[in-house]
Amino acid sequence: MATSKNEFVIALEEHYWDKELISHLGGGEATRSPKMMERLYDLGDIRIREMDEAGIDMQLISHGAPSGQKIEADIGPKLISGMNDRLAEAIKPHPDRLAAFAALPTAAPEAAADELERSVTELGFKGAMICGLTNGKFHDEKQFWPIFARAEKLDVPIYMHPSFPDDRIIDAYYKEYIQDFPMVMRAAWGYTVETATQAIRMVLSGMFDEYPKLKIILGHMGETLPYQLWRIDQALSRPGHSTIKFREVFSEHFWITTSGHFSTPALLTSMMELGSDKIMFAVDWPFVANPPAMEWFETVQISAADRKKILSENALSLLKL
Ligand code: MN
Repeated sequence: MATSKNEFVIALEEHYWDKELISHLGGGEATRSPKMMERLYDLGDIRIREMDEAGIDMQLISHGAPSGQKIEADIGPKLISGMNDRLAEAIKPHPDRLAAFAALPTAAPEAAADELERSVTELGFKGAMICGLTNGKFHDEKQFWPIFARAEKLDVPIYMHPSFPDDRIIDAYYKEYIQDFPMVMRAAWGYTVETATQAIRMVLSGMFDEYPKLKIILGHMGETLPYQLWRIDQALSRPGHSTIKFREVFSEHFWITTSGHFSTPALLTSMMELGSDKIMFAVDWPFVANPPAMEWFETVQISAADRKKILSENALSLLKL
């Protein structure tokens, strides 16, 4: 295990699928290869073997999109708590290798807050992941604030992860190109646009004044926001705006990960904008394989102290592992 430099490696955005949830959502198998399905449904041997082969010591596991955001309010709480229970049970034999982020029934915000608390205090989960929008709504809307209030109270982060864009957006932005370039509305661009928008809206909402200790994680090297930070901050401080210190709020409350984005220039930009304390290693397994992530990080020329922060120390402290 570990890297050639003998570093401890924690990967923060590693996924699985819950059979019951996926079957409730009408399958999903059709769109994925058998090899991918085998990995999504594995919470043991295959996962740990591929971690060992690549040198990854620990995975933080979360349900890949689609997740609890797509489940109706009336059945969500029961279905999702069963799902979190199954995940807790499955990872129990590997406490030093596997830890988890909860799924949340966000269509029922109070129940989602309670499920977050139960997942953290009873199941030992380290926070929660939200994938995309809930019923076409961004989570900065006040109806969802009970979830963030509870996250702050429990001092656990919420990971804001993409899902398929809202239908209105697919229609307006992508439909002419989806057939030839299906990834354009997904990992190539659509995921980033929606998730970056979600993050910007969270800052604009004033949520972080209300919950000054709230911690949010973004994957995919911050969904372009580190690169855009100067311009967003400058434009929002032009005359005629409500007062908001975008850079200050974003830099304080957001952590980012390297999931599915193994670019040294993007990493260096992020380090220059946010600092190495706010960046954590992630792969996005099994949608992305472990070796390219590890091989990339081996080549990154940064200090030993920064490597250590990104590979493990920041996660250990943020997640209190
Ligand atoms: Mn992911």
